[in-house]
Amino acid sequence: MADGNTAAAEAGRDFIRDIVQADLDAKRHSAVVTRFPPEPNGYLHIGHAKSICLNFGIAEEFGGRCHLRFDDTNPTREEQEYIDAIERDVRWLGFDWGQHLYHASDYFERLYEWAEHLIGTGDAYVDDQSQEEMRVARGTLTEPGRNSPFRDRPPEENLDLFRRMKAGEFPNGARVLRAKIDMASGNINLRDPVLYRILHASHPRTGTKWSIFPSYDYAHGQSDAIEGITHSICTLEFEDHRPLYEWLLAHLPVPAHPRQYEFARLNLTYTVLSKRILNALVKGGHVLGWDDPRMPTLAGLRRRGVPPEALRDFAKRIGVAKANSLVDLGLLEFSIREALNPIAPRRMAVLRPLKVVIENYPEGQSEELDAVNHPDDPAAGMRKVPFARELYIEQDDFMENPPKKFFRLSPGAEVRLRYAYFITCKEAVKNAAGDVTELRCTYDPATKGGNAPDGRKVKATIHWVSAKHAQTAEVRIYNTLFAKPDPAGGENFAADLNPMSLEVFGSGKIEPALGEAQLGKPVQFERLGYFTPDPDTSAARPVFNRTVGLRDTYAKVTAGEAKGR
Ligand code: ATP
Ligand code: MG
Repeated sequence: MADGNTAAAEAGRDFIRDIVQADLDAKRHSAVVTRFPPEPNGYLHIGHAKSICLNFGIAEEFGGRCHLRFDDTNPTREEQEYIDAIERDVRWLGFDWGQHLYHASDYFERLYEWAEHLIGTGDAYVDDQSQEEMRVARGTLTEPGRNSPFRDRPPEENLDLFRRMKAGEFPNGARVLRAKIDMASGNINLRDPVLYRILHASHPRTGTKWSIFPSYDYAHGQSDAIEGITHSICTLEFEDHRPLYEWLLAHLPVPAHPRQYEFARLNLTYTVLSKRILNALVKGGHVLGWDDPRMPTLAGLRRRGVPPEALRDFAKRIGVAKANSLVDLGLLEFSIREALNPIAPRRMAVLRPLKVVIENYPEGQSEELDAVNHPDDPAAGMRKVPFARELYIEQDDFMENPPKKFFRLSPGAEVRLRYAYFITCKEAVKNAAGDVTELRCTYDPATKGGNAPDGRKVKATIHWVSAKHAQTAEVRIYNTLFAKPDPAGGENFAADLNPMSLEVFGSGKIEPALGEAQLGKPVQFERLGYFTPDPDTSAARPVFNRTVGLRDTYAKVTAGEAKGR
């Protein structure tokens, strides 16, 4: 077995890891047990990835274990599709719960018995007030709440009513079971919180067996206790729930007393991480599905070509803090580039093709040129790139009237074609509308491989593909889903959507070696970014997603602004 302590020391520290270490040192626990507790009401997103990396990461580093527990207490919002997606995504991210897959619904029986226990000790009562009456009586942050007229029901009556709630005698919303704590508490969570509500709905796992369901606050801590969780780690918004978490543990015959610790949730610029809004994006047709590559979901990031290592690296870089903050999307892109750069073979592809005819290259002739697969990794080897009289280059690598600092092609200018020859532009051919449709060029046979024997230099190297050898591909370029760094999280989210979030290039041209690109295998299109085939790809029509560009566009924007542009 690995030495957990040494591993932890190498893995980077944060206040939660410090607490875990201190607890182990003091022998308060023999082993750390954490859990990741998603509600299966949507797909996991990159914020969840932070929590997964934290919970599973701590278990790994300290030689403990981490449970995957579905918080399936609300059957009206939960679906099997989400359960399957969550399991797939946690595995993909690189974590394994082993035997420890649980559901809050596994504990419905025990939770029910404990509710009866609270009734018996006079710590819970059945309330017949309507939802609205309860809301009003709860008070506000500045005003105490008022006791329910049903608060002092004798335990026998409460028990009878609660059993009849369970038996399905009452309609939805007719009654609830509440903990009897303190309607005047400064903490609203302690003002007699609801433990059980009536819900006649079919549950994905328990079917129609139950017509009452435990509240999140009641189910969550008790599930932690049943599983022997040592450190129950959650996001800051649950800090105010901790007194209730502890009250319940103190009033129930639970087998263990987990401690809850809160950390700051991930917020990311240009990104919304609310499951409610992600759901609305899918249902409203603003994106093509939960796995749309513009979505911050793990399924979307995977489809886009982001490797799981990049997300784990990102989680490590952002760390775990006690104060909320906003992380720059550029940092995520940095982690993605760091992960892709060493493993992505280099290839050539042209998004907006402009035809080039090499007038002094014989018709019908072609040759194969040597190209390195990776500039920093000789072991990645070489490949052959076909060259012929007609080529494609990017439209924006040519300008008819270039400004001073434009060193790429223009009439009379000479450039290097990557891995090939120097070419000189002789003429731009235009159509009736005045658009450049073709460039007539010459090449210098002596520059084969990219250097001139006479030592003359060119200032630009551009990528290209041979027209007759190239395959046509669809290339999808993604921009941020939201146009603003801080999109509105409320009902108006759609107003902040970026109309340019997806650009499709239907007549991309790719070199023959890209015909072998495989799903899940990244490539770098030279000068354009990192790409990966989309599941829509086929041999007849390859489809590529751009995972990320080569440079940090956000940093550029900021620098530009700083210069007052
Ligand atoms: P909901 O609003 O539906 O509760 P949720 O994002 O909190 O949404 P859960 O399924 O309850 O969804 O989340 C599972 C776990 O992931 C929780 O422990 C939660 O604290 C954590 N989590 C959720 N969002 C983030 C985030 N942005 N950053 C870090 N952790 C998060
Ligand atoms: Mg939640």
